[in-house]
Amino acid sequence: MTQAMHQVLVVEDERDIRNILRALLETEHYRCIEAETAARGEIEARSHKPDLILVDLGLPDGNGVDLIRRIRAWSPVPIIVLSARTMEEQKIAALDAGADDYITKPFSTPELLARVRAALRRNVRNSDQTPLLRLGAIQIDLTRRESRGPQGELRLTPLEYRVLESLARHTGLIVRQAQLIREVWGPERQGDTGSLRVCIKNLRAKIEPDPRRPKYLVTEAGLGYRLRAD
Ligand code: CA
Repeated sequence: MTQAMHQVLVVEDERDIRNILRALLETEHYRCIEAETAARGEIEARSHKPDLILVDLGLPDGNGVDLIRRIRAWSPVPIIVLSARTMEEQKIAALDAGADDYITKPFSTPELLARVRAALRRNVRNSDQTPLLRLGAIQIDLTRRESRGPQGELRLTPLEYRVLESLARHTGLIVRQAQLIREVWGPERQGDTGSLRVCIKNLRAKIEPDPRRPKYLVTEAGLGYRLRAD
């Protein structure tokens, strides 16, 4: 599948930002559809069935979070939120409403395009995950639960594999703390962020070249974690 087939809907009221996004997306051979308001965004989403939607949270006719909730009611399309640095709470609300990821304005071009690619991959792959993870010199086979690093076999616990599996289903995208706990420990352990933190710390000690400066298992402060695979 080539990128030329991908349609991206941009819901953003600021013309300058829309123009920048359109130029960027077209350079990468995505087709760009634009909407200035939440209402228009929903109409375009329904009529074009885009492969990805970028949603600004501050829209003239309402909150981007409501738009995400409305779209999620009928579509699993990947959604990335565009938010200002000051909109921390709305960012969390947007992820809870079903957004797959967020990007903070002003955004860097490589970062934005990496997020777009990750979100589109999520769509193509749907529930199937890549069984083989490559993190630099480390190879992790999630199906056989075997890991090798430059020094030979890596011993990961079943819990650590399950955390990696959860993150790998959304490689490159943010995964909320609550979602990780639900998927790995179960709903009855909701709120047990301590166990998650310990598990992440142990995983980093095994897979990160410098666990104090994580390269692959990245913390998104207050929100969750992101797996950056090669
Ligand atoms: Ca705006």
